Amino acid sequence: MIRRILVTGGAGFLGSHLCERLVHDGQDVVCVDNLFTSQKTNIAQLLCRPNFEFIRHDVTHPMFLEVDEIYNLACPAAPGHYQYNPIKTMKTSVLGAINVLGMAKRVGAKVLHASTSEVYGDPTVHPQPESYRGNVNPIGPRACYDEGKRAAETLMFDYERQNGVDVRIVRIFNTYGPRMHPYDGRVVSNFIRQALAGEDITLYGDGSQTRSFCYRDDLVEAMVRMMDRPPGFHGPVNIGNPGEFTIRELAALVVELTGANANIVQARALPEDDPLQRQPDITLAREKLDWEPTISLRDGLARTIEWFRSVDLGAFRAPTPNY
Ligand code: NAD
Ligand code: UDP
Repeated sequence: MIRRILVTGGAGFLGSHLCERLVHDGQDVVCVDNLFTSQKTNIAQLLCRPNFEFIRHDVTHPMFLEVDEIYNLACPAAPGHYQYNPIKTMKTSVLGAINVLGMAKRVGAKVLHASTSEVYGDPTVHPQPESYRGNVNPIGPRACYDEGKRAAETLMFDYERQNGVDVRIVRIFNTYGPRMHPYDGRVVSNFIRQALAGEDITLYGDGSQTRSFCYRDDLVEAMVRMMDRPPGFHGPVNIGNPGEFTIRELAALVVELTGANANIVQARALPEDDPLQRQPDITLAREKLDWEPTISLRDGLARTIEWFRSVDLGAFRAPTPNY
């Protein structure tokens, strides 16, 4: 049966790929986005499709739509983007969740919320299982995002307990791929852009901190599986690639794959509260979603580099100053 599906943040990096997947599956898709960190070009190829529509709207304001399912992705995700206007970031997470959940309650829609590995903060348990409650600094520069996402998880479960809303939470670990904003300041986009331009590759700190990188197709597949599961399992469930790399190893791989003549340099100290290690324990995702990533960092980076080579980087605009 065709379902009416709302994707908030649907014009963004992950949201646009999710919309594409759902449109191709034949669902009736509504994309809501205020284009803070994204471009309309991300969804240009969908605008002519009869089962896709775009609404420019800020999720901190209520929405009134009749839908069966909601994927809630609206939120700036890169540190530079979410720290641009931290108060707005918190409002987007919290008011956005309340507005989405209120709508879901009214129309009986299922909600899948895009949470994050940042709920674990700078983790003292490694790898991170969902049962780990985290080590977040509630007053630091990353808190607007981390605590906003934690509060949104709280709201999801309160609406489930109090109002019976069918909620599903995925905790996404660093995900990359074509269509990520080339100037978002995230490590994959910075390194590829720098390598292709023959500039220095900028390590923050000594590059020994680790991350685990998931390719976007694997992530989208997991989100759809989570939404399509029978009711009863709300998560949270970790979605990520357990392959763990130091940032220095990532830099070396990008240099190798681009064939760049670029130096890897220690550009600045590690930013405040920057997590030192991160790796998802995906036992639960394997069990409940029968899912695990299929694309290696080497293959995913090669595809991402190809995309970076193919686009006009000058066409990507920075977040708007009046946001
Ligand atoms: P993105 O910045 O490309 O996408 C976010 C989208 O939300 C953008 O299109 C932006 O314009 C929109 N948005 C922001 N504030 C809004 C508001 N107030 N109203 C309406 N739209 C708004 O980032 P992404 O990487 O695609 O992330 C998508 C979601 O996944 C986010 O919720 C993010 O927190 C989560 N996530 C992503 C990662 C990752 O590594 N990519 C990791 C963990 C969690
Ligand atoms: N980082 C880096 N050089 C860069 C950008 C980021 O060394 O040019 C580091 C950053 O300090 C962090 C890691 O790479 O330790 C991942 O950063 P990103 O902003 O991509 O994601 P997050 O910190 O949210 O996981």
